[in-house]
Amino acid sequence: MTEITYEYRSGIGTDIHRLVPDRRLMLGRVHIPFPLGLLGHSDGDVVLHAVIDALLGAAGLGDIGMMFPDTDPQWKDADSSELFLRVREHLKKYRWQLVNADIIIHAELPKLGPHKGQIRRSVADLLDTDFANVNIKAKTAEGLGPVGRAEAIEVTCVVLLKRRVK
Ligand code: MG
Repeated sequence: MTEITYEYRSGIGTDIHRLVPDRRLMLGRVHIPFPLGLLGHSDGDVVLHAVIDALLGAAGLGDIGMMFPDTDPQWKDADSSELFLRVREHLKKYRWQLVNADIIIHAELPKLGPHKGQIRRSVADLLDTDFANVNIKAKTAEGLGPVGRAEAIEVTCVVLLKRRVK
């Protein structure tokens, strides 16, 4: 009987976007009702950007800026979930499978408790993985710094990938 062995790689991703008026607040492709939204190319989805960076890091494929330079008009107003699907294709090409993702959303406002389940479901769907493999935490910054002043939302994400050793 042949023994199946896997190699494992972890990756970390962080991102921060400024909260500004007249933007829809999108977190993990979920629209959160709030008077402010995140500034940035496309939808400024800080959750998806941090998860993408964690995935690329684990797979040794660089970072989001390398893969989708904002100087390239192709990515100028690209939807974050489109970038996400591109990254998933790359992972597939190199046979990487997600083990789990742990995501921290640092936000003073809005209160994310009631939205965590929906964000978790949405990110799990995008990752094409089970709900149980994704975890979302929401933390305030105790009033400290740009996050604490509700000027920005920041995300930290860790992922673990595995692939079968040939
Ligand atoms: Mg970003």
